[in-house]
Amino acid sequence: MDHNRLAERLFPHIHTTPEEIEARYPKRQLAEGAKVTRMGPSPTGFMHLGNLYGALVDERLAHQSGGVFYLRIEDTDKKREVEGGVQTIIEAFSSFGLPFDEGATLDGDDGAYGPYRQSQRAAIYQTFVKSLVQRGMAYPCFCTEEELAAAHAQQEQNKENFGYYGRYAVWRDRPMEDIEAALDKGTPYVVRFRSEGSIEHKLRHEDLVKGKLEITENDQDVVILKSDGIPTYHFAHVVDDHLMGTTVVVRGEEWLATLPVHLQLFRAMGWKAPKYAHTAQLMKIDPETGGKRKLSKRKDPELALSFYAQQGYPVPAVLEYLMTLLNSNFEEWRRANQDAPMDAFPFSTKKMSGSGALFDIEKLRDVSKNVISRMDTDTVYAAIADWSATHDRAFHALFTRDPAMSKAYLAIGRGGKKPRKDLALWADAKGYMDLLFDELFRPDYTMPERVSAEEAKAILADFAPLFDAQDTPDDFFAKMKQIAAAHGYATDTKAYKADPSAYKGAVGDVSMVVRVAIAGRQNAPDLQTVMRILGRERVLARLDQCVAALGSA
Ligand code: GLU
Repeated sequence: MDHNRLAERLFPHIHTTPEEIEARYPKRQLAEGAKVTRMGPSPTGFMHLGNLYGALVDERLAHQSGGVFYLRIEDTDKKREVEGGVQTIIEAFSSFGLPFDEGATLDGDDGAYGPYRQSQRAAIYQTFVKSLVQRGMAYPCFCTEEELAAAHAQQEQNKENFGYYGRYAVWRDRPMEDIEAALDKGTPYVVRFRSEGSIEHKLRHEDLVKGKLEITENDQDVVILKSDGIPTYHFAHVVDDHLMGTTVVVRGEEWLATLPVHLQLFRAMGWKAPKYAHTAQLMKIDPETGGKRKLSKRKDPELALSFYAQQGYPVPAVLEYLMTLLNSNFEEWRRANQDAPMDAFPFSTKKMSGSGALFDIEKLRDVSKNVISRMDTDTVYAAIADWSATHDRAFHALFTRDPAMSKAYLAIGRGGKKPRKDLALWADAKGYMDLLFDELFRPDYTMPERVSAEEAKAILADFAPLFDAQDTPDDFFAKMKQIAAAHGYATDTKAYKADPSAYKGAVGDVSMVVRVAIAGRQNAPDLQTVMRILGRERVLARLDQCVAALGSA
């Protein structure tokens, strides 16, 4: 077989040599130990949590080591590509604050190792395939879909492994005349890699997440170039990650099955394979069956990255939650370093679990509450204003009408050792703040059990003339005691508990009556502060409104 002649026949338009291409991708000048990682998403228009999960690993590994994190668009499958897909990818990562150091941008490339869109790299891949053909390591295969299906059926019947290998690799050793005849007829073909592997052999591999593995060698002659001249994932991965200098490939564990193919290709090309970190699938407990299953695009809205922005989960909360899934020791670190930026956490692939990570939205809410409780008032105000501007225009108008008022409310219980944790996402702001806005105020005047409607009215009537917006919490509480005593309620809870029959209730019942009247619910932040924010006029109006409502009850 004249391999050179075959290579020229298949790739007459390729005049570059592998060496010329290699020269365009010099070794990166980085400090010892610096890692180069990349995201290689396909522009399908759908970005999911798994993408972010992997990206966080990439970003941490690179930036923690003084390395490079870059974006490569894997657009070799035109059928799955959607218009604006690249934009969706870039916007999703930038909204999650995971900065790429280089790679594809909206209108081109930024970096010296491009092009960063695989669709623009056809000549590069073909140069390397041509060289494999020249060396007898790759060959064209003219099998039709029908022929491959027939082989598959045969293998099924014989209970043999599926695929293109051994006697099923019908073009592997075909004479040149057959190949040329097929080419002369213009028969479409793919290029396959000639595997020298055997399923009798195992290869050892150490994955950064899965640990030591023993995997069966690949004996299939896999397709490396499709009939349109575009490479398959396998070949593009090997060529790109070599040229672009990737040192750690972080990708979903679904790629583990074809790792032997990739290692084989790296060897055939004479290139050093990168390290691999195969990340576990994101699982959840199915609310219906109670069983564990993979997150599903169809059933689980929380799989889509867009879900988090829509609901108003703060970006750092989502990242922190993903970090709790990624590194088993993150939560402990966070408890000990409450105010440290997340980047200060020493992330390690050694702490990643090799089995499925269990995604739990309730846990995300808890993490988010903690994250928001540590934010300062101005940050929270800006985030709510920003979120509501696109997702709840009506609330936005109320919320930003008097910024000082909204901020004063958001400041209640913020800071200090035990901050309030009312908000898990920005969409919660409306329900938490409704009592500030008469437009949203829908009071539920359910009074404490021990207080009748008549009594509640009398308490409110007594409180109205005593109200002073300048009162400190202590002043306010003294007034509550005064009213309690006048109405036969114990002025302290201990006294009430010691002899309940001597009282109608305790001072807490009295202040609860005032709280319900003002806040329209039993659960609200510090009442004295709320009343100061509302101001005298609105407080008195609320007291009247409640008395009127109780009167008609
Ligand atoms: N384009 C591949 C995917 O969408 C990327 C896998 C990888 O990171 O190598 O899954």
